[in-house]
Order: sequence, then structure tokens, then C-alpha cells
Amino acid sequence: MTDETNAASPATETRGFKAEVSQLLQLMIHSLYSHREIFLRELISNASDANDKLRFLSLEQPELLADDSELGIWIEADKDKGTVTIRDNGIGLSREDAINHLGTIAKSGTAEFFGKLTGDAQKDSQLIGQFGVGFYSAFIVADRVEVLSRKAGEPVSAGVRWQSKADGEFTVETLDHAARGTTIVLHLKEDAKEFADSWRLRSLVRRYSDHIAFPVRMPKEGEATLDTEVVNQAQALWTRPRTEVSDDEYKAFYKHITHDGNEPLAWSHNKVEGRREYTSLLYLPSTAPFDLWQREASRGLKLHVRRVFIMDDAEQFLPLYLRFIKGVLDSSDLPLNVSRELLQKDAEVEAMRGALTKRGLDLIARLAKDEPEKYQSFWKEFGQVLKEGAGEDPSNRERILPLLRFTSTQDGSDEDKVALADYVARMKAGQEHIYYVLADSRQAARSSPFIEGLRARGVEVLLLGDRVDPWIMGQLHEFEGKSFQDASRGDLDLSKLADAPETPVDDTVTPEQQNLFKRMADVLGESVSEVRASKRLTESPACLTRDENDIGEQMRRMLAAAGRGDMPRGKPQLEVNLQHGLLALLPRLADDDFAGLTRLLFDQAQLTEQGQIDNPGDFVRRLNQLLVKLVPAAG
Ligand code: ADP
Repeated sequence: MTDETNAASPATETRGFKAEVSQLLQLMIHSLYSHREIFLRELISNASDANDKLRFLSLEQPELLADDSELGIWIEADKDKGTVTIRDNGIGLSREDAINHLGTIAKSGTAEFFGKLTGDAQKDSQLIGQFGVGFYSAFIVADRVEVLSRKAGEPVSAGVRWQSKADGEFTVETLDHAARGTTIVLHLKEDAKEFADSWRLRSLVRRYSDHIAFPVRMPKEGEATLDTEVVNQAQALWTRPRTEVSDDEYKAFYKHITHDGNEPLAWSHNKVEGRREYTSLLYLPSTAPFDLWQREASRGLKLHVRRVFIMDDAEQFLPLYLRFIKGVLDSSDLPLNVSRELLQKDAEVEAMRGALTKRGLDLIARLAKDEPEKYQSFWKEFGQVLKEGAGEDPSNRERILPLLRFTSTQDGSDEDKVALADYVARMKAGQEHIYYVLADSRQAARSSPFIEGLRARGVEVLLLGDRVDPWIMGQLHEFEGKSFQDASRGDLDLSKLADAPETPVDDTVTPEQQNLFKRMADVLGESVSEVRASKRLTESPACLTRDENDIGEQMRRMLAAAGRGDMPRGKPQLEVNLQHGLLALLPRLADDDFAGLTRLLFDQAQLTEQGQIDNPGDFVRRLNQLLVKLVPAAG
């Protein structure tokens, strides 16, 4: 089928692959060996994308289609030669395109990706699956790959032949007579010759590429003619009624649009009719892409208008905190020439974004309700991203709050497993707040002195240790009528708990204590606003607390990381635990030692609040001096 494309010019150029391509190729060949047949899905997927791109361009430049206006994909096997050929008549590649697109990995973050590989074939193949192997999968079955192509709109003499044996090099030469589109010839490896079989290929097309919207044609079986027949459904999957699409088809389609080798966790397929008409198919992936946290990573839906592919990564239709959702959107109302700029301003798009956001959240809520185990794994992968929504999107907060999962004092694991509804259901009688504590990690939160009193009373506390938590918690007010309360803030009043002691603890301060607090405050000077007796400590001698409206240490650090290092620092209160031995010792000390121990208590409290103290070297020296003086010498 490629006769007319074979007249090569002698201008052959040999180039080396970018180092990471060679490395990826070798890894892929090994780790995907047991799923070799995916090469066909990947190459058909690329062919379909190439046709989509040309159809899109032809909206404005119909001449690009010339006399070859029926876009399709052709597949042919040659048993004798041991080849499989995949052809499309789409956008094609120029010589430059071939060099740039087939010899490099354009995706940002490739270096990070390689850093994550472990050498363990099983784990690596999962990672490679997420990375999306695309064109390179050809080398899993072929020891030589030939790409013959001509870009739409270029003269027939501007074709290119790209060839490689996956040995670190590729060659490109000009073809002076090439058909529009791309033909890929796979010269199969000895042990992959089984793929040069029409029946085998046909069944693979049906299994993996049935949903491709373009006809995939193969020579008619058993006939020595050049006639071909269409072997797939050739109908865009999302246009079919939900009831007629099988789970396997939904999964195959997911792999086509995402190039993710892993299966999706769940999906939601909806057709909206009425004033606004569109169809959406949203997927929750099972694993986070390697670039989930990269700013410039692509996100968004594949946008179609009346079935014509318009663009990848249309990010206007979902908020940033749902950036892990993949899928397609097909609108009947948007103009075919819609651009990214237009999408940003359009009121219709805004309304669709609102509706799709709800759909996405519903899909997640359904998973949480129906398949808690899957939800747990979803939360592990994407919880941190979804959580941002609780802070960022007040209009959907009610929907997002039930989806959040936390680590808490009531659950021994450091995995987020507790839903707010669980917390509220087991609140103690008389408890008015949902208590939480912020720290640099969940483990640090678990041993925070701020929650000693709550823990001793059996009150559950949510343990927050993510970087975004201080900001998010600052935005939340209540859940099911119970307000959120930072355990380190303000006056922790537990007297309303049903099992509070009959006679409230006498918290009047004696003159001696008053005197003690004053002496301590004098020592600490400007570092604290007040020294007072603590209701929240049971084990630690002291802690620093802040007013409700102080932005707090974690939040301050988050802002500093974002370049706002100038936030004013309010003065904390030093709370002391009068039951603690060190506090009993203090009044008996001479002035020097009193000051030394007071400062030490302050430093400790700062250390537990902030994870660091201003001058660690000085702290250690003073600590040791005091130890030598105050600890009675052994014997
Ligand atoms: P991806 O499709 O994820 O970008 P691939 O490795 O599959 O990665 O392909 C790399 C690039 O090569 C594509 O982005 C596209 O520009 C080009 N390409 C691959 N196959 C074709 C094709 N059949 N027609 C035109 N261009 C293609």
C-alpha cells in the first residue's frame, strides 16, 4: 500500500536519540513485554489523533483535505515479510516534525520520571504506563520501525522517511513522492512474528480500538483483492447510549484519551439536553500522573464540538482542584472555531464548568459511598488535590467536606481514614467543636502538646500535617453545625462536655502563682504577651498559644514560602502546666537559675510549636549548663 511513498532521496541524515529516549526504550521493551499487544492500540490512537488534527485544521482550510477527504486508518499484515503496517491520512509529519517528535520526549518532567524508576520491572511498568509510551511502543514488537510521512498542505515531494532500530540512533531522509499522512511499518522481531496475522490484528482492533471514531480498515479476509473492510464500530464512543457501552469499552477508551496504561477507577457518562446541549464522559484515574504537582502539566478535557475534535487539555471546564479528572466533552453549542482565549471569557463555558464540577464531585461521592476501598486508594492518590477545593471553592464546600478524609487521634494509622461524618457521629455528649491540630506532619501532630488535655478527656482530634492545611482550615467554618476549632488557639474550654467534673476545677489563680507568672513574664520580656495556667496540658510543662485571629506559625511559613516573608508576628502566650514537676521546682530557684529554666521552658514550647527554635546552639548550651547545675550529681 505504500508504493508511491517509497522514492527516497539520498539526503540521509543520522541522528542520535536524546539520552532519555534510549533509556526509556530499553526500559519499556523489557517491562511491557507481557503486554506487547498494546503497541497496536497506541499507534492507532496516534493515527486517530493525527486525523482529528487534520479535520480540525480543515474547518478553516478545506483545501488541506484535497481529494483525499475521507479520513481513516488502514492496517495490513504481511506474513512473508514479517511486517505490520499502520497508515493514516491525517496531519502527517514534516522532516523537522519527525526529528523533533519522534526522537525526543517532549513532556516536561521526564527527568523526574526517570528518577522515580526503581529497577523493579513490575513497579516500573506501572510508571511507564502512566507516562504514556505512545509511538515508542512500536519497538516492543519491532526491531526496525519505518515512518513514512507527509504533512498536510506540503507538496508531494516534501515527504520524510524516519527509521530506527532502537539502537540509539535514527535516520531521516526526504521522500520525493509521499502520500499525505503517516505510514508506520513495523519490521517484527523474530519472537513477535505472530502479530503479522490478520486475524490476530483484527481481534486486537476490536478489543482495544473499537471506539476509535475513524474507520479502521483491513484487507478483506480470504480475498486476494485490494478491497478493504471496516473492522471497528467507527463511532465516537461518547455518542453511543450508556446502556450499549460495556465496561471494557469504557476502559479502552480511557486508555486511548489518556495514554495511561492503568485502568480508570470510575467514570460518569452524561448527555445534557435542553437549552444547553453537551455530552461529557469523565474518568477518575487510578494512579496520579507523575506531573500532578507541576504547574505547567497539561490538564483538562478533550474538547469536541458536534463530534469534531477541537483541542486537548481544555482546562476551562473543571477547576484546578479537579485537575486529575480526565475525559471528553462534546458541545453542540460552542462555535467550531472556538479558541482557548474565547473559552476563558465565555459565559456558556462558565455555566458548563459549574455543571461539570458538580458532575465530577458526584462521581467522587458515588465512589466514596459505593466502594469505600477504592475510595481510600483514590484519596491516597488525589486527596491532597481535592482537599484544595474545600478552601478554594466555597460554592461547592458542602459537597467537598463529606469527601475529605483525615488522620485522627481515634485511629492509630497515619493514613487518612476518618470522614467528618465519622467524627461527628462519635463526638462526646456536650462537645461543640471539631478539634484539629496543625503541625509539620501527621506524626508531629499526633504528639503535639496542644492536644494532651483533649486526648486525656477522650476527645477526638484531627491531625493535620500537609502544607496546605493551615490555609484550608482557615477557610472552613463548620460541618453539620459543628464549628472547627484549632486546639492550639484561644481558651480551650472543655467545661461543657457532659462528663466534665461535677465541681469545675478551681481555676482561680493564687497570689503565689500570680507572682510566679509575673516573674516568668519579666524574664521573657517581649517574647510573650502573657504567662498563664494551661487547661490543655497534662504531660508537657509548657506550650505557646495564639489568639484566634493570629495567622499562626504554619500559615506564616506557608506564606513565607510563597514570597510573603513579611507577615507580622503576634506575641504568643506561654501556657504552663502547674502539675508539672518543673513548675513546682521553679519558685525554689535563685534568680539566675529561675531565668535559665524559664527560658528553657519557652524554648521547648517554641520547638514544639514551630519545629525549630531561633538559636539551637545557644539552646543546647544553656540546657546543658542547667542540667549540670540542677541535676544532683549521682552519688
Ligand atoms: P504523544 O502522542 O503522547 O504526544 P507519542 O510518542 O505517541 O506521544 O507521539 C509523539 C508525537 O509524534 C506526537 O505528539 C505527534 O506529534 C507525532 N506523531 C505520532 N504519531 C503520529 C501520526 N500517526 N501522525 C502524525 N504525527 C504523529
